Amino acid sequence: MYSQSTHAHKPRKRFGQNFLTDHGVIHAILAAIAPQRGDAVVEIGPGLGALTTPLARLLDHLHVIEIDRDLIAKLSARFPPEQLTIHEGDALAFDFASLGEAENGWRIVGNLPYNISTPLLFHLASFANQVRDMHFMLQREVVLRIVAAPGSRDYGRLSVMLQYRFDCAHLFDVPPEAFSPKPQVDSAIVRLRPRPAQRPEALDPAGETLLASLVSAAFSQRRKMLRNTLRDFLSPEDFASLAIDPQSRAEMLPLSDYIRIVRFLAQRNLR
Ligand code: SAM
Repeated sequence: MYSQSTHAHKPRKRFGQNFLTDHGVIHAILAAIAPQRGDAVVEIGPGLGALTTPLARLLDHLHVIEIDRDLIAKLSARFPPEQLTIHEGDALAFDFASLGEAENGWRIVGNLPYNISTPLLFHLASFANQVRDMHFMLQREVVLRIVAAPGSRDYGRLSVMLQYRFDCAHLFDVPPEAFSPKPQVDSAIVRLRPRPAQRPEALDPAGETLLASLVSAAFSQRRKMLRNTLRDFLSPEDFASLAIDPQSRAEMLPLSDYIRIVRFLAQRNLR
């Protein structure tokens, strides 16, 4: 077990504080990240330093974003500024572009507070073009939703919107016993690698905004048929031109169909 002194800090539930204590899991996460000395890495939620300490040892420099002032005080007492830059505040409001460009892209890692993981992933998706990769510990259920394929129960807005931007891989599971205090749920590690900005299916910024609204509408009531949920976007004739069954449900449509709909709507608006 990792010998950090959790007794000196009372874990705060509102900040989703479940500290990693299992050495084997910490090593497995580091092996998945495989940091190289000069990499530009930012860790979200360093906490008591379970990942921060080995990362700082392996890297020339590390950035962290932490919201809890008590933990920030502990971190700044332990790490000199040449080794660690501490950004105080809410990762949800953090402007990742303010870090500046990294030659090979930023690597973002973290054992994320589960209560903010979904909005944080959406926030991070908008910085994908400055990112090389991201490795996160999340609730296992959220990881299954991220990597889900069409037709499965877990496939939803998170799957479509993240798979549009990233290649997503579920690396391994982590049991509650690996943390102190133990979370109520299983966890898992996910790797997200941005897909090339120049890929053929990439949309322009207006198309991406439309994709987000379309996917939200489609999954707003996932049991309903698309002819109802997408009524504001597509007429029965539009469904026919697209060769998409208006009686199908959002969970049946692959990402490529959502992209086709966006392109179709953009073309129609041009006419
Ligand atoms: N990395 C440590 C570990 O693995 O043991 C701590 C992980 S703990 C699950 C989540 C961490 O994120 C805590 O340190 C918590 O204070 C911090 N945190 C919670 N909400 C945050 C937010 N909105 N922005 C930045 N950090 C946050």
